[in-house]
Amino acid sequence: MDVEAVGFYEIAQKDPDRPAVPAPGVPVSYGGLHAEVNRLSNALNGIGLRPGDVLATVLGNRPEFLTVMLAALQSGLYLVPVSSHLTRPEIGHILADCGAVAVVTESAFADAVSGAADEAGIPAGGRVSAGPAAGYRSMAALCASGSAEPPGKRRTGSIMLYTSGTTGRPKGVRRPLLDITPETAAGVLRRTMARHLGLEPGDRVHLAVGPLYHAAPCVHALMALHLGHAVVVASRFRPEHTLELIQRHGVTDAFMVPTMLHRMLALPDDVKARYDVSSLRRVYHSAAPVPVETKRRMLDWWGPVLYEYYGSTESGPVVLAEPDEWLARPGTVGRPVDGVQIKILDAGGGELPAGETGLIYASGHPGFEYHGDPAETAATMHDGFYTAGDLGHVDEDGWLYVSDRRTDVIVSGGVNIYPAEIEDVLLQHPAVADAAVIGVPDDDWGQFAVALVEPAADAHPGAGLAAVLLAHCEPRLASPKHPRRLEFRASLPRTPSGKLSRGRLRDDYLQGFID
Ligand code: ATP
Repeated sequence: MDVEAVGFYEIAQKDPDRPAVPAPGVPVSYGGLHAEVNRLSNALNGIGLRPGDVLATVLGNRPEFLTVMLAALQSGLYLVPVSSHLTRPEIGHILADCGAVAVVTESAFADAVSGAADEAGIPAGGRVSAGPAAGYRSMAALCASGSAEPPGKRRTGSIMLYTSGTTGRPKGVRRPLLDITPETAAGVLRRTMARHLGLEPGDRVHLAVGPLYHAAPCVHALMALHLGHAVVVASRFRPEHTLELIQRHGVTDAFMVPTMLHRMLALPDDVKARYDVSSLRRVYHSAAPVPVETKRRMLDWWGPVLYEYYGSTESGPVVLAEPDEWLARPGTVGRPVDGVQIKILDAGGGELPAGETGLIYASGHPGFEYHGDPAETAATMHDGFYTAGDLGHVDEDGWLYVSDRRTDVIVSGGVNIYPAEIEDVLLQHPAVADAAVIGVPDDDWGQFAVALVEPAADAHPGAGLAAVLLAHCEPRLASPKHPRRLEFRASLPRTPSGKLSRGRLRDDYLQGFID
């Protein structure tokens, strides 16, 4: 297949029996999925949705998510996939902020969405549920009422995603690259994936295991469908189940976040050995720093299939590191993708030389704007370059290294401490399942580092283990970076996109002192 000729709708017509969304039971073919997409498009039109209208989704990972995305895009709608992990007021805020006139949800979230939809003024007729829910139209019944014929002229819809809100309130990001349609897919391939000749049309199987409402999993799944790949939708991530899905479906491609890699590595060796993962060819990871040791061990286990990129919802991928490139420079997040330039600026906007840490800026990505907030958009820009607020440096050869987010840096006695560096060291210890480092205010030092550790299943948390872990840090980190305290937590809060909720951990920790 020619890169120019990619596109879900075309593939569905030319090769209708090609497997699209294999689910337990009958694999759904491209032809079958296309018919369902057409039925939904016609039905949405029947309930009054017109090109340009905003359709929100509050869905977990399920095959219908893909149907809704493809139907919305071909109907020219503005699709806003809202995180199903948010609270009712947060969902209400997004539904109102984006101006949704209809929402598709499912039984598990129906109650929260009803309240949120009331607040946002979404009419009863515009509420649809995949699965039974009082007060909602059934998506299955709606599809059954629609014709399977394409709904006239195919239009080009848009997707607006909200950021995960790790650094504040979720912001709606309008970005042309998110609109993965047949018309843009070839461009995305050429620009971003040009160095990944492996991501090509053909008989591949993509595993969608990250939340489909999040930028990377959403874009990867849509790209896969425009390339004729099958997409296996995992309802959620479970370490052993993921290995089982890889083996059962012969998965070739996936997008994962570092926590997933870490959790699979933590499985007992005999469990890991039970699964054949040799079908894997490209596992992309992004969204959070990957500890060097985690990645090294994953590369030993899975072979050279781990492709890292760094970017954000706003910019898309700006740098990429292929497995051999990373092995030659462990810790790099990559070098710029085609057309992108990187520079590192100090607080005053001055450009820093190789090796010096400052704010990472990138140009050449397709551009974006925050919905309804031009001032916030402008605040992230400098001379046509955009920053996501991450700190890092480039080496002499232009490879980028990310230190941490500006807002997470701990300044102790005037020294900058990057929590990710300490977490990386802690995660190398087998007794550590997860680790978070936060800055706590201190009269003497300004701040000091506290480590919060989720112990591995077979570890025995207590003063003894705390001492062992602090001793583990000592030779590996300069003394200002040694955590002053180390406490155990049953689990650490991470966003579904794999990021530590450090703000929440900090608040909870400080609250513990006040109570
Ligand atoms: P909000 O802007 O609301 O806080 P968010 O920034 O969490 O949301 P995303 O766009 O999903 O939303 O995340 C982008 C961030 O993820 C980057 O700014 C960076 O901090 C982190 N990130 C992405 N890729 C990598 C990587 N390869 N290594 C380290 N961190 C990464």
